[in-house]
Amino acid sequence: MPSHELDNFIICKKCHTLHKKVPLAHDTKAVCRYCDTVIYRNHRDLFNTTLALAITALILLIVSFSFTILTINIKGVNQSLNFASMFIVMFEHHYYFVGIMLGFLVMLFPLIILSSTILLLILMKYRKYPYLVKRLLILIAKLIPWSMIDIFFISILVAMVKLFDFTQIDVDVGFISFIAVLLLDFMIIKRISFNELWINYEEIYRINA
Ligand SMILES: [Zn+2]
Repeated sequence: MPSHELDNFIICKKCHTLHKKVPLAHDTKAVCRYCDTVIYRNHRDLFNTTLALAITALILLIVSFSFTILTINIKGVNQSLNFASMFIVMFEHHYYFVGIMLGFLVMLFPLIILSSTILLLILMKYRKYPYLVKRLLILIAKLIPWSMIDIFFISILVAMVKLFDFTQIDVDVGFISFIAVLLLDFMIIKRISFNELWINYEEIYRINA
């Protein structure tokens, strides 16, 4: 069989059954007949909606970093917790390593991942700069395991639970936008997987090549 004929077929990544590709309507997906795994989707709307989600997530992430996360009342004194105050406390107590790790894992990497995702989706949408898109895909894949924003949030929750008995804690804008960022992240990952992005990358830029 010549290779262009093979392009009309797709293999289910779970059970390895061969399927013939058929054109899909807007916002629909093709599911494996045998194991119900999603094989491919119609991506025209997917790019736009995922792009909107990623832009919203980036804005909310910047909000989380800029505003107060928690206000802790210790013996009548209000102490507000935000990123700037966390860095100041850590460096004052000479926790330089922890401070730098926090900066990279919780601030820098999530910011780079989200802005790269936005750039990537825009470039793929307009079918521009395949080399840059490939670099971005590799960069994001390498950084995702190092983004620890969810772990950071869980550790805040654990600290809150431990402090509840002793102090009064009020959640602030930063806290709420953190929850929104995590929910959006989850939605983005659910909508678009890396596997699919690579398949899309190959499909989009082979046409232009
Ligand atoms: Zn299958």
